[in-house]
Amino acid sequence: MKIVEVKAHPLRTALQQPFAFSQGWVKNRSATLVEVVTDAGITGWGEAFAQGLEPPQIAAAVIESALKPLVLGADPLDIEVLWHRMYHATRDFGRKGSVTAGISAIDIALWDIAGKAYGVPIYRLLGGAFRTKVQAYATGFYRISGQGESARLGEEAIAHYEAGFRAMKVKLGYGLTDDIAVMAAVARSLDTRPVTLMVDTNHAYGVGDAVRLGNALAPYDLRWYEEPVAPEHIAGYREVRSRVSMPIAGGENEHTLYGFRDFLGAGAVDIAQPDIGSVGGFTACRHVIALAQSHGVQVNPHVWGSAIAQAASLQLIAAVPVAHHSVFALEPIFEYDRSSHPFRQALVAQPVEQRDGWVDIPSRPGLGVEVDRSVLDRYRIS
Ligand code: CA
Repeated sequence: MKIVEVKAHPLRTALQQPFAFSQGWVKNRSATLVEVVTDAGITGWGEAFAQGLEPPQIAAAVIESALKPLVLGADPLDIEVLWHRMYHATRDFGRKGSVTAGISAIDIALWDIAGKAYGVPIYRLLGGAFRTKVQAYATGFYRISGQGESARLGEEAIAHYEAGFRAMKVKLGYGLTDDIAVMAAVARSLDTRPVTLMVDTNHAYGVGDAVRLGNALAPYDLRWYEEPVAPEHIAGYREVRSRVSMPIAGGENEHTLYGFRDFLGAGAVDIAQPDIGSVGGFTACRHVIALAQSHGVQVNPHVWGSAIAQAASLQLIAAVPVAHHSVFALEPIFEYDRSSHPFRQALVAQPVEQRDGWVDIPSRPGLGVEVDRSVLDRYRIS
């Protein structure tokens, strides 16, 4: 089998109702998909994670200009070989960010091809499924006007609960006073309902305020406190982790085995959150999982992309071991983005759907998705 074509599809659509996370206003939803075509009639799909503020054309240019020439004509089953070829060839201008996201997209597509070629889901190729369904947590509580929205966010918690979610991640990082008011409103609104809460500030604060916030939120028994400080401030992560009571999570903005070596080696986090669409695909996730296991760190993948990224993340999560084994071990949970995304679900014939707060992991070959090309045509950036 040979790779005969690699096509990047940068997609974007404007949101009717923009929303904010701590780093800015999200006015569009975007994705960079890649299609890897073989001479055997098998096509693989992948996705480069486009962060909320990231133009999808960057990873598309990386794929078309830098990576496509490296894989055309190659055997798509040489996945590890091709990963290293792509990484080495882009090292001097890559290693992080959108370049690694481009590598991730192609790597995901190669695993999709391998699954289809062998007739098995990707988790089978990764060593099998530790779980066949996963609890979903609602990611939400974004802002639509700014500060002072605690009453509306309290009501949002009830909407997630009534939709079936028993775990929720609250977006914070809009100022300490406002954050603390929001958490009080969410907790008051949920009252005695059995809900596990997490928070995510998207690195809005320095160490001092990150610690103040963590200590103020101690009563809520958080499962984790995500991205308390900037991703490159590894010493800051370690200091926050040593001064607050809840587990610290991070890693959606870290890349490859090399980035995670420094991050986990420094004791930055309790929970590592690689995003399969930006860490370097399944191949890099395998590296990171082994590394994390050796550090006693739980891997709980991050995902905020479209249907392709979600399908990839589900295959990955099936194959993630628990870091701390016991009969009642905490299993990884699946990030279920509840914010607006006009084409996330429409893109494939089998979109991810939660039922009673749980998601089944597909057992169809490869990623287990079939892409609707009319959706690509509709949202493609020309
Ligand atoms: Ca996050």
